[in-house]
Amino acid sequence: MKKIPVGILGATGVVGQRFLLQLHAHPWFEPVWLAASDRSTGKLYREAAAWRLVEPLPERMSTQELRPPRPGDCPARVIFSALDAAIAAELEPAFAAAGHMVISNSSALRMHPAVPLLIPEINPEHLELLARQKQLEWGRRGGGIVTNPNCSTAGLALALAPLERAFGLRKVMVTTMQAVSGAGYPGVASLDILGNVVPYIGGEEDKIEREPQKILGRLEADGVAAADFQISAACNRVPVEDGHLESVSLELRRPASRDEILAAWQSFHGRPQELRLPAAPAQVVEYLEAADRPQPRLDRDRNAGMSTLIGRLRPCPVLGWKFTLLSHNTLRGAAGAALLNAELMRETGYLER
Ligand code: NAP
Repeated sequence: MKKIPVGILGATGVVGQRFLLQLHAHPWFEPVWLAASDRSTGKLYREAAAWRLVEPLPERMSTQELRPPRPGDCPARVIFSALDAAIAAELEPAFAAAGHMVISNSSALRMHPAVPLLIPEINPEHLELLARQKQLEWGRRGGGIVTNPNCSTAGLALALAPLERAFGLRKVMVTTMQAVSGAGYPGVASLDILGNVVPYIGGEEDKIEREPQKILGRLEADGVAAADFQISAACNRVPVEDGHLESVSLELRRPASRDEILAAWQSFHGRPQELRLPAAPAQVVEYLEAADRPQPRLDRDRNAGMSTLIGRLRPCPVLGWKFTLLSHNTLRGAAGAALLNAELMRETGYLER
């Protein structure tokens, strides 16, 4: 099978490195164009990127030259984007306007009414929003933008979706303990985070309080009608390398037993599993019975970092039920999520012109 050529914008960062590793060995995609900021343009990848993954930098990719981050330069139609939000707001529409399909990690356009905020197991039909982008400035030449959620939203939405479908949701309280890799590289200063917890992550609570309702929302003739439940989020940065842990309490609309909740999680699956997409986990939500799991170091890499891991389901005296979840922030929360989006788009014809 001929592979689809793809580009990576923001290829040198924490998420960009994950993209590089996943794409260079992918059965359907071939990274042919790498770009980062002007600081990196013209350098070899191994000179420009501070490689921070345990897996070695693939030899073939290490000697690729970083290209300028300009739309006219990229020969591939499909572009994975891992840019800082501020620059993504400017560059992603510019690449789409030049006819590229941009599969983005950034928060810049996630809440735009014509942009799918996609989790393929939950809302694959939201890709139909791409048709609305043809009326926008950036969509006139066949380009488009598809986003994946914030890294904490990703795991949370996958835990909530089976419960929302089976019992309805009314209220959710979530406290996150987020890894330092979520802040990019070099990220949080070591003096700020070693032996410490920082009870603030700029902009994060707002994203977690709004994105799940769009993801679980219903696609209607004039766009996505947000799902009707409320979220209150409190976000903390903790000295963990990878993996966001979240304590969740929630109120359901209809009563459910512990066994019914566990069954809803256990049986949850979607189009990626039906289509057997390469990046799809066999078990989307995995429940861990041990009293002290999930834990970031021990559990984040289960199922290639693509499952939401849940434990400690128990009654909550205030809202009804509470539990702990773990999600890998740079895999299901970033590069793995975007890759799964691209695989679904390829299988359902959205990557064809
Ligand atoms: P990062 O490590 O700081 O990487 C940022 C990337 O953007 C680098 O490749 C950088 O290139 C490039 N860049 C910066 N300014 C640029 C410019 N003016 N023009 C072109 N490229 C520019 O950040 P990250 O953690 O990978 O995050 C990337 C995006 O993904 C952000 O929007 C973030 O919010 C989102 N995200 C991150 C995570 C996570 O867990 N880390 C999870 C979900 C979503 P240089 O190396 O040349 O500076």
